[in-house]
Formats: sequence, C-alpha cells, structure tokens
Amino acid sequence: MVSVHTPLNSVPGHAPEAVWTEALRRSGRRVTKQRLAVMAAASTHPHATAEELHRASRGAIPDLALATTHMIVNDLTSSGLLRRLEVPHSASRYEPDLGDNHHHAQCVRCGRLEDVACAVGHAPCLTPTDTHGMNILVAEVLYRGICAACAAEDRTSDAPTTPEVEEHSHG
Ligand SMILES: [Zn+2]
Ligand SMILES: [Zn+2]
Repeated sequence: MVSVHTPLNSVPGHAPEAVWTEALRRSGRRVTKQRLAVMAAASTHPHATAEELHRASRGAIPDLALATTHMIVNDLTSSGLLRRLEVPHSASRYEPDLGDNHHHAQCVRCGRLEDVACAVGHAPCLTPTDTHGMNILVAEVLYRGICAACAAEDRTSDAPTTPEVEEHSHG
C-alpha cells in the first residue's frame, strides 16, 4: 500500500494522492512516482509552468530531468489529468483538471493569474451568437485587468515627489 504523506489532503479543492493514483489507472497510465510527483506539484503550485513543476517535483525526486517533466506534463494533459492554460506573454501553465470549468483572471502588469469561478459551473458556459455549425464544447475565458498590488504601485509612482526610476524586478 502507498502510505506516502502528501499535503494534498489539506488543500481545499485539490485531489489527494489516492485520487491521482485512481485517475492514472483509469486513464491507462502506469502509476509512477514521477507522475505522482508532478501531479502533486501541480496541486500545490497551481498555474505553474513546466519548469516550475520540474523545480517543485525535484523535492520528491531529485534526479528528475526537465525533459522527462515536459513529457509527463504533456502526457498528463492529453490524458485529461492536467489542464493547460495558454496565457499571453507566458509559457504554458498547468493545473489539475478538476472538471469545474473555472476561468482565470490575469493582471496585465505583473502577470499574476487567479482562479475565477464559473458562474454556470459546466462547459460551455457561454454560447456564441454564431457557432458556425460547431458543437461547442468549452468556452475558455481569460479576464484581463490590473491587480490591487499593481494598482497601488501605480498610485505610488504617480506621486510627483517620487524621483525613483521604476523597477520591474518581479516581472
Ligand atoms: Zn499585478
Ligand atoms: Zn486555475
């Protein structure tokens, strides 16, 4: 029996390792510690890039290669366990696909990405006026705006008494 303790159980809304194990089996994938580590990383680091997942997974598997992580991430995405997010000015990001059809809001300044619940709760939650004959499966919604932290920074830098050149260290 697997008795590895992971923090997944304690993260609300995220699947415990047993759920991942079961999901891997259902999708016909072998349950490997590499796959479990990447999925655990995706649960604890939502919206991470493959490189970030690689870094996070190496806590559990120090010799995990970046190329292997990319392969695992692509495979988990095509098997529906991970959801790939394409956002402007960023590498693809990943999160566990919990099937809740949630959307995302991105700050156009700092790029931070937040979850936004879908008001309808299932796909597709938006219906186009013209489907062009397509059976619409999903509407991917990305809200774009300016986050509170960036708005506060704007207000500070607008003050004429601040002579500092603006720094973008958190880009
Ligand atoms: Zn921001
Ligand atoms: Zn999300």
